[in-house]
Amino acid sequence: MTPLELKIADLVRAGGGAMSIGHYMEHCLADPEHGYYMTRDPLGVAGDFTTAPEISQMFGEVVGLWAADTWAKLDAPSPFALVELGPGRGTLMADMLRAGRVMPAFTAAARIHLVETSPVLRELQARTLAGAAPGACWHGELASVPPGPVIVIANEFLDALPVFQFERVAGCWRERMVMLDDHGSLAIGHGDLLPYPDRERWPDVPDGAISEWAPAREKIARELAERITRHNGAALIIDYGHVEGGFGDTLQAVRAHGPVGILDHPGESDLTSHVDFAALARAAAAAGARCHGPIEMGTFLLALGIAERARRLEAGKDRAVRKDVDAALRRLTDPAAMGSLFQVLALASLDGPVPEPFARMRSPR
Ligand code: SAH
Repeated sequence: MTPLELKIADLVRAGGGAMSIGHYMEHCLADPEHGYYMTRDPLGVAGDFTTAPEISQMFGEVVGLWAADTWAKLDAPSPFALVELGPGRGTLMADMLRAGRVMPAFTAAARIHLVETSPVLRELQARTLAGAAPGACWHGELASVPPGPVIVIANEFLDALPVFQFERVAGCWRERMVMLDDHGSLAIGHGDLLPYPDRERWPDVPDGAISEWAPAREKIARELAERITRHNGAALIIDYGHVEGGFGDTLQAVRAHGPVGILDHPGESDLTSHVDFAALARAAAAAGARCHGPIEMGTFLLALGIAERARRLEAGKDRAVRKDVDAALRRLTDPAAMGSLFQVLALASLDGPVPEPFARMRSPR
């Protein structure tokens, strides 16, 4: 048993024998002592998973150009907060700021704010950004970023926020819970009947259907929408997930680049679930923002010129470098790789500009 498993087992006992999946996920990722993100750098070949900014500098450069262009369309507020949620190693922000130098007024006006709970990753971010963003500020939550105009970027952040699961059992909805089996090991079970099912969220569907709900993600969407409408700004959310909500268990655990059971190594494997972009967009729109997209990440990156950037990086380089750049481009944009699984949603205000490349695409919600 991992130390966190012992702690969770105690909490399950103290809680009457069951713990919500959402609370389990929160303990696994964010327990101050043993939480997955609190104790390690999970990214890269030596870690458990690799994210888009860690695949290639081109990703952050394109996102940086998006931020600079959006800032200009917002009438160039100065100063403004350039906020990143869950910045990992700080690679995305460093690449964004380097690319953003094409518009010197943009980087001069930017005040860098990083929302990060992990002490290990904060330190890595500080090292990565020491030259590029000397005055950067760290926050434990979005709410403590000072009010004012903002451009917010979140890549693979929302999938790490807790999700609750509900399952249709014998014609009724019950919450899926973490319990203890006869040997005292963690096991999945079902909680009490949901007392007052909301017919829209909990319709009549066949037994075995699983519905997921991530209130912490919807809260972020609402907070972003409120800031943007009150103070001017825009947000870009990039994550893997689905465009329309539906039924299914998308909770997954990853360790050393391979799948493991969600109960197998609490605190030592990454736990994520697919982001329900329809639910995010509903929450943001209800809080007054206009949602653009979501569109597939491959479409977003190609529309913003990532292929041209790849050609520039390859120019005059040897075969090995050209091969690497090509492979990264394919991995980020190919529908069979990350291109279709990842979605991009932009938030702006109702009377604000339409960010690129959405102005050239389908109409906003
Ligand atoms: N955006 C980065 C890292 C993604 S991993 C990249 O693309 O490489 C998820 C990041 O979110 C990590 O930095 C993790 O520590 C942070 N994180 C997870 N839960 C968080 C929370 N509740 N509040 C703030 N940061 C969180």
